[in-house]
Amino acid sequence: MKPIQMVDLRSQFEHIRTEILQGIQEVLDTSAFIKGPAVQRFEQALARKLGGAYAVGVGNGTDALQIAFMAIGLKPGDEVITSPFTFIATAEAAALLGAKPVFVDIDPHTFNLDPTRIEAAITPRTRAIVPIHLFGQPADMDPVLEIARQHNLMVVEDNAQSIGATYRGRSAGYIGHLGTLSFFPSKNLGAYGDGGAVLTNDPDLYERARMIANHGARKKYYHETVGVNSRLDTLQASILEVKLRHLDAYTQARQVAADRYDALFAGEERIQTPYRKPDRTHVFHQYTLRIRGLTPEKRTHLQTKLREKGIPTAVYYPVPLHQLPVFAHSTPPHPLPEAERASQEVLSLPMHTELTPEQQMYIAENLLDALKTL
Ligand SMILES: *Cc1c(COP(=O)(O)O)cnc(C)c1O
Repeated sequence: MKPIQMVDLRSQFEHIRTEILQGIQEVLDTSAFIKGPAVQRFEQALARKLGGAYAVGVGNGTDALQIAFMAIGLKPGDEVITSPFTFIATAEAAALLGAKPVFVDIDPHTFNLDPTRIEAAITPRTRAIVPIHLFGQPADMDPVLEIARQHNLMVVEDNAQSIGATYRGRSAGYIGHLGTLSFFPSKNLGAYGDGGAVLTNDPDLYERARMIANHGARKKYYHETVGVNSRLDTLQASILEVKLRHLDAYTQARQVAADRYDALFAGEERIQTPYRKPDRTHVFHQYTLRIRGLTPEKRTHLQTKLREKGIPTAVYYPVPLHQLPVFAHSTPPHPLPEAERASQEVLSLPMHTELTPEQQMYIAENLLDALKTL
């Protein structure tokens, strides 16, 4: 059995080596390193693949969020309603612009922003709702869109983890006003370095996002606003162009692996496998279990036991953002019990496109054994 990794980029590369090297060679031969033809080709292929109108390639997923927030004119003092149970980038990008992240609790089944908690958090300063489609499954978007419409708010989807997932037939990232993607190597569509994209169906927001990402200029040296310098590298675009052609197969490999895990854990009372909603697809960026009664100490013990057997695991995310000192000014006056409980009980297992049934059986057996020692 091959050594088990959380993500196996090396084995995946072996299957596409020739295509990837061809793409890289083409970029080197033309030496159009900045805004080369592969960038535009990839942007168009990406939008087409996801059934959306526009995509702007940018430097990384965090920049994509910042650019999306700048495109909607987010200003100091504005408030952004978002989830505390996620990676910091979403709230960080808002805070960098002087806006205040306002954290509301999550749905304990999907780990996504709970739309029933949004209205109580709206104030006259609220500008946007920012759901994160966590672990590969879209948040409940229709109620979010309805609340946004009633209160005249913008909706920005952080879709770093759920490329290709759909919600009631619509593509995650193109449901709200703007969406963002990350092409960090371990994401479902990963580059061999950094990359990201801003998605939208709105021609005006598209123009703004493109301009902001390019130093605030539509035409070179004629700057209209203060922007940033954030580009999708041509070499990365050529790699992403190749990998986009395999995205459906990659997604399917993850879903098949998730089904196998589900079957291996079926009937285990303490283990809650990922919750699947019938109205949306799950692209399993992570396969995250919830283990009832787990504490951070017990979880560390479990992880150590598994590591001794050559099984890596990870905790996404051990501290909800509202409990981080950096967001102390954003800590709500009341607890966010679901996010806090989730952060104690989750454990993510190896999930990638190269996982074998044999590896998964070994992982499940050892996890169940280790659970007995708690
Ligand atoms: C990865 C990730 C980001 C940031 O992407 P980078 O490309 O690393 O900047 C933002 N939000 C979420 C939810 C992520 O998982």
